[in-house]
Amino acid sequence: MQKKICLLPGDGIGPEILAQGASVLAAVAQKFGHMFEFDEALIGGAAVDATGSPLPEETVEKCRKADAVFLAAVGGPQWDGLKPEQRPEKGLLGIRKALGLFANLRPALLLPELAGACLLRPDVAARGLDLIVVRELTGDIYFGEPRGIETRNGRRTGYNTMMYDEEEIRRIAKVAFETARQRRRKVCSVEKSNVLETSRLWKEVVLETHKDYADVELSHMYVDNAAMQLVRDPSQFDVILTGNIFGDILSDEASVLTGSLGMLPSASLGASGPGLFEPIHGSAPDIAGRDKANPLATILSGAMLLRLGFNLTEEAECIENAVRRALRDEFRTEDIMEPGMIKVGCEAMGRKVIERL
Ligand code: NAD
Repeated sequence: MQKKICLLPGDGIGPEILAQGASVLAAVAQKFGHMFEFDEALIGGAAVDATGSPLPEETVEKCRKADAVFLAAVGGPQWDGLKPEQRPEKGLLGIRKALGLFANLRPALLLPELAGACLLRPDVAARGLDLIVVRELTGDIYFGEPRGIETRNGRRTGYNTMMYDEEEIRRIAKVAFETARQRRRKVCSVEKSNVLETSRLWKEVVLETHKDYADVELSHMYVDNAAMQLVRDPSQFDVILTGNIFGDILSDEASVLTGSLGMLPSASLGASGPGLFEPIHGSAPDIAGRDKANPLATILSGAMLLRLGFNLTEEAECIENAVRRALRDEFRTEDIMEPGMIKVGCEAMGRKVIERL
């Protein structure tokens, strides 16, 4: 298979971790006889410094021409004083918009090797934590109009509009059902249909869409209960399907349960064109340039790129197994270090994974 991958290293630890992510992809390509062509482009603070914009047009062009976009992280204190439209984070929102990415997929997986870092009680963690949140990314109360702050009856009043049309709901529901088919075939749709009309429509359209996915088990849960169940017994979930604002909160909750920020990958997908694959953590300026960063979230994002972007399941599993083997062989970066383990830096961890592919 011949594919183009656009690399966006960004800021802080970004270049260090993406170098490892890309090396792992290159090694997998060699092992399985694929041709991956890598191109690199500027985003975030690095792009601001070089061009004045956090998302230069050239970057958008390179991403559009690629089959997948592999991003590390953006941001840092040196750009915090900039005007909102120039801030590094604008580059991230901009590229998601430019590529029409409406689905955000975030797995939360507790590896037995890292069970010690899990925030749950051991008996709850022992039941397992292996779920994925499929969050709608371009609609909902974050984008609905009208919105604003104005004076009404002599009082300052803020308002936003929660809104979804049926097509927006249908396309994200399909992503969730398709994702479930590659896993344990269970979707839990999370909304607040006891209170919100938007959620009532959400539930209706999810039920309609489900007719084409009879092999997938569908359940429904109110968001307040879902927040509770995630902590009480996350083993009940396989795929959680939800809207933008509920997904924003639940995906953070689900991922933090595992206790290891440096381990968590994500994918954002559109209707067509390249998907964007990135770790969920930020640019960690506090440890940048010191070979201390954990590259595993980025390496695992590379596995998602192969599975969801290129349909290369075996290759993706090869990476995931190599990561687990490196952990089983007791290699740890500082953020996941435990007594008795072998401490390694970012580059060495990448090498340990490649040796185990
Ligand atoms: P952060 O995720 O960068 O760091 C939080 C803490 O986790 C830090 O102590 C950091 O050292 C540690 N950490 C994060 N990733 C790690 C890794 N791979 N290995 C080892 N340790 C790791 O969040 P923050 O400190 O709130 O933000 C720093 C900058 O990143 C800010 O400018 C913020 O806007 C930006 N940010 C970017 C993204 C993104 O690019 N998607 C996401 C979140 C934050």
